[in-house]
Amino acid sequence: MIPAVELVDVSKIYPGGVTALDGVNLVVQRGELAGIVGPSGSGKSTMLHLLGTLDRPTAGIVRIDGYEVAAMSDRALSAVRATAIGFVFQQFHLAPGVPAVENVADGLLYAGVGLRQRLRRAQAALHQVGLGHRLDHTPNELSGGERQRVAIARAVVGEPVLLLADEPTGNLDSASGASVLQLLVELNAAGTTVLIITHDQHIAAQLPRRVELRDGRVVHDSAGVS
Ligand code: ADP
Repeated sequence: MIPAVELVDVSKIYPGGVTALDGVNLVVQRGELAGIVGPSGSGKSTMLHLLGTLDRPTAGIVRIDGYEVAAMSDRALSAVRATAIGFVFQQFHLAPGVPAVENVADGLLYAGVGLRQRLRRAQAALHQVGLGHRLDHTPNELSGGERQRVAIARAVVGEPVLLLADEPTGNLDSASGASVLQLLVELNAAGTTVLIITHDQHIAAQLPRRVELRDGRVVHDSAGVS
């Protein structure tokens, strides 16, 4: 099967000369749940940008669902990003004043699906994340944990190959954070490939695979180590 993610000898050097990633190799198979962990400055955000096709490497190969990012036009890349990748951020990034179901339906804006179908699938996604009773609530009527569930529903409503979660529990109290992590575990069990970027060792310790970054290099990968 085509891996969800393949990085081959990937480096990223920012203008000014900072080497943020230095010869990184990584394969994430479909169906995996893994954490990208490391202290501040280790290269996590840079890796997230490359995995999310929001940036391109200075050297090496990035493949997402088999698509080689370097070989694609910006337009083709946007299409891959919109259909193959779901994003979840620490800050939720929901549209204020907009009901949950419409926030989630926006996750299908580029999927070529009509409005009624978008709303129907958004409802189903909200049920899946345990918010079937909050369809018409706006973000300010929801708790932090509920907002993150809405954001997760929006990220998975298009059934992406890869769910990228950037510090998804970083803005939540520990109980809400634990239940959001549990939701990501459940989505993974249902088939979604999930990558969680975190500096939180407690979160990382609960993931079946941890890829540890330090100074732009993978210093440990627990894949195959149980
Ligand atoms: P993390 O997310 O683990 O904190 P980053 O990927 O943000 O790490 O940063 C890795 C290194 O790259 C750091 O030294 C950081 O200062 C540098 N860096 C990140 N983004 C930029 C940028 N846009 N321009 C220059 N240097 C950057």
